[in-house]
Amino acid sequence: MDCSLDLLCILCGRGGFGSAVIKVEQGGNPTIHTAQGSVKAKFVIVAGNAYLSGLIPELQAKSMPCGSQVITTEPLSDELAASLLPQDYCVEDCNYLLDYFRLSGDKRLIYGGGVVYGARDPADIAAIIRPKMLETFPQLKDVKIEYTWTGNFLLTLSRLPQVGRIGDNIYYSQGCSGHGVTYTHLAGKILADVIHGQATRFDAFASLPHYPFPGGHILQVPFSAIGAWYYTMRDKLGI
Ligand SMILES: Cc1cc2nc3c(=O)[nH]c(=O)nc-3n(C[C@H](O)[C@H](O)[C@H](O)COP(=O)(O)OP(=O)(O)OC[C@H]3O[C@@H](n4cnc5c(N)ncnc54)[C@H](O)[C@@H]3O)c2cc1C
Repeated sequence: MDCSLDLLCILCGRGGFGSAVIKVEQGGNPTIHTAQGSVKAKFVIVAGNAYLSGLIPELQAKSMPCGSQVITTEPLSDELAASLLPQDYCVEDCNYLLDYFRLSGDKRLIYGGGVVYGARDPADIAAIIRPKMLETFPQLKDVKIEYTWTGNFLLTLSRLPQVGRIGDNIYYSQGCSGHGVTYTHLAGKILADVIHGQATRFDAFASLPHYPFPGGHILQVPFSAIGAWYYTMRDKLGI
């Protein structure tokens, strides 16, 4: 099926609707191709983040997909839960490769951490994250892990999100570097504004420089892993 639209977002096709975009033809009226058909649009917003692969080559070298993993305990007693986070805060630590955790409404500990540069899906998530959790909270050693999951986020060299325009009709927002839950609401507004001709806020974000990762697409993963090893050592030594 082929069709034509004023605006098309590459946003939620792959997981939600099984219609992954497999090719973007740039030009006067860009065309988006899926396995089933194509859509021609006046404007395209690219928000595929860590899952875009090489679909938009201009975006590939200046960002790097990374995996992060999360585990969730069984519900804890009130006493045990209060011993972990007495004020019920949501926490992320200050290490270079940071851990993050909070209690759920039903008093489970949700604990995430670790970064897999290049975004592979680890086979045994609990084996990676549970030791980190026990280092922080040894009192959980007999507690069952009931859920685990993994997902990808997109890292940028500056750790700032990248907003910009390719040609005059393809807009993108990506690379929240693990902090997109709040930022992406603003990004949606900024992108809607610019499509409607209000470019002030878009231009402010788009003027921030987007640095390529050292090593380009091929070597960015090993180079980043070496850098991360150095900073992790500093964290361990308390430097
Ligand atoms: C395990 C984990 C924990 C996290 N915890 C936090 C946290 O505590 N706080 C926080 O602020 N952030 C957190 N993040 C980061 C946060 O999830 C992201 O920053 C945010 O989801 C980015 O939003 P987005 O809309 O840009 O991209 P995504 O939410 O990744 O959405 C991209 C969408 O594009 C679709 N897509 C991609 N390619 C194609 C294609 N070719 N065709 C069709 N559709 C496509 C995908 O299916 C997806 O639906 C976490 C990430 C992970 C993985």
